[in-house]
Amino acid sequence: MAPIGILGGTFDPVHFGHLRLAEELVQQLALSEVRFIPAANPWHRKKPAATAMQRMEMIRLAIAGNARFVLDEREIRKNSPGYTVETLQELRQERGSRQPVCLLLGADAFLGLPSWHRWRELFELAHVVVAHRPGFSLLQEQMDDLLREELEQRISTNPPSLQSSPGGRIMTSPITPLAISATAIRAGIKVGRSPRYLLPQSVLDYIRAQELYI
Ligand code: ATP
Repeated sequence: MAPIGILGGTFDPVHFGHLRLAEELVQQLALSEVRFIPAANPWHRKKPAATAMQRMEMIRLAIAGNARFVLDEREIRKNSPGYTVETLQELRQERGSRQPVCLLLGADAFLGLPSWHRWRELFELAHVVVAHRPGFSLLQEQMDDLLREELEQRISTNPPSLQSSPGGRIMTSPITPLAISATAIRAGIKVGRSPRYLLPQSVLDYIRAQELYI
């Protein structure tokens, strides 16, 4: 069965780093869709600069025209700090126990996994696919011990293995390295530098119209 991909994040704002990650993993893993799930109020980071509605609108603009990309509003609609493990439980109930689900993470997010709520249960609910990201090393010596153990036990190098089981594997993927970050985009706008070509023009037009990040 074709796996679905889940890409959670703050998306403050969404940029080409997110979109290329999703696009390349659709191709590599034959995902039927990627669900972009913006976080309501991330408990582990400071409050986003744009409102939840603005972050959602930017995703809507960014994914327009891509039939496999879906905006999933569930965490924002809940309006409480949502946990990924709970979102995956919900999806599991909706899609059934056989549906392969891939939680898509950049290398920085993967390295931070041990600080997530009930993080080891994530592997019971989904595969974890880790995209390379410039500036973050996936060398095992530099990883938290428990995370390294999970990686060693679950590592797979073979995309079809993610289609034949609902979850439980970890795969790493060397996507096109793009050193783009939302933090750097916001900091650039603040000092008057244009983020043109780092994110879709439609998103940039929206940022300007809403006078965001200035
Ligand atoms: P910030 O700079 O504020 O940390 P961000 O650019 O990392 O933001 P998030 O919304 O936090 O954006 O990221 C959502 C997901 O996308 C995370 O799993 C993150 O690792 C991944 N991601 C973001 N940018 C990239 C990139 N350039 N390359 C690979 N993965 C990325």
